[in-house]
Amino acid sequence: MPNLSWRHHALVQALLSRGPMSETKFHSLFHALTKKDPGSHKQLFNECLLAINKELAYVQFELRACRNQYDGEVCYGVVNNVADEQAKLGTKYSVPQITFYKSVVEAIVNDVTGQGCISNISALNVQLECQLAIGSQSQGGPSTIPPAIRNFTMSQKEKTLEELVKDGWLCSTSDGNIGLGVRSFLDLRSWLRMNDVPTCDICNEAGVKAELCHKEGCMVRIHSYCLKKKFPRQAERVCTGCGSSWGIRASNRDLVEEEENEELNESTQAQSQAQAQAQSQAASSLRRSPRKRLRSCKLEQIETNNPGSSGASNVNPERRTTRRSVRQR
Ligand SMILES: [Zn+2]
Ligand SMILES: [Zn+2]
Repeated sequence: MPNLSWRHHALVQALLSRGPMSETKFHSLFHALTKKDPGSHKQLFNECLLAINKELAYVQFELRACRNQYDGEVCYGVVNNVADEQAKLGTKYSVPQITFYKSVVEAIVNDVTGQGCISNISALNVQLECQLAIGSQSQGGPSTIPPAIRNFTMSQKEKTLEELVKDGWLCSTSDGNIGLGVRSFLDLRSWLRMNDVPTCDICNEAGVKAELCHKEGCMVRIHSYCLKKKFPRQAERVCTGCGSSWGIRASNRDLVEEEENEELNESTQAQSQAQAQAQSQAASSLRRSPRKRLRSCKLEQIETNNPGSSGASNVNPERRTTRRSVRQR
């Protein structure tokens, strides 16, 4: 890495040895190394991260920022861009452990209620066989389950779960459930996208832990922190897809709508226009291509989600390039 100074090295080294770091910690490390505050020297901070990523790209690594969806905090980490769990977890975890991890992650992200977590017991009881069937569809069914996976005991699962939480691949949520860890948020970006995990309608990142629109038939989900950012006042919160009040359940909303309809009775034309507009908006939000949404998401994230902290924005330009190139393959 001839273009990097010892300061760049120190940043990368810290992330590699300590694992993902909160934005606050990463910023203070940057400050300690450069005597410059990343908040007031955004350009310097950006350039530093871009320089690092330029070099890391040669070995398919990337320094990136992500949000922990359970608390909305930004974290930094270095990830391996090779989409292969074996390469990422293989040095520490065995094949059955990795299979177990993948099954738990799938169960978490497939939660239709957007809670982004499953109970401890559900985690311990995930079916590893499904994972194998996905991985080797062409090579036969459950009869070919390797003994190592077939004999993976409950106590081994418990121990693995503990280790995965300790290492930040999974987390133990405040209500005692199992959710995705920061490392998974950093690492699984493209995987989440490939697996069609519903995205947040505001930032377009996967909405693993998100609030759902209560309107029947509306599939919009939004991260709590994105919602707060976009609509600081609770009363103003509306679904960005269908326009209905956010957080009001159907029964309540019917009342609200009735009141509104009364007001609009005089101009039925205006009302039907509004409805048509809302419907077309909802439809277009469904139609929007993932790539298009991705781009707008990045801008949104820089400008609205992260105004004071240059954090995520610094990594974004590089990240966009990387993703695009990956997709074109
Ligand atoms: Zn969001
Ligand atoms: Zn909606």
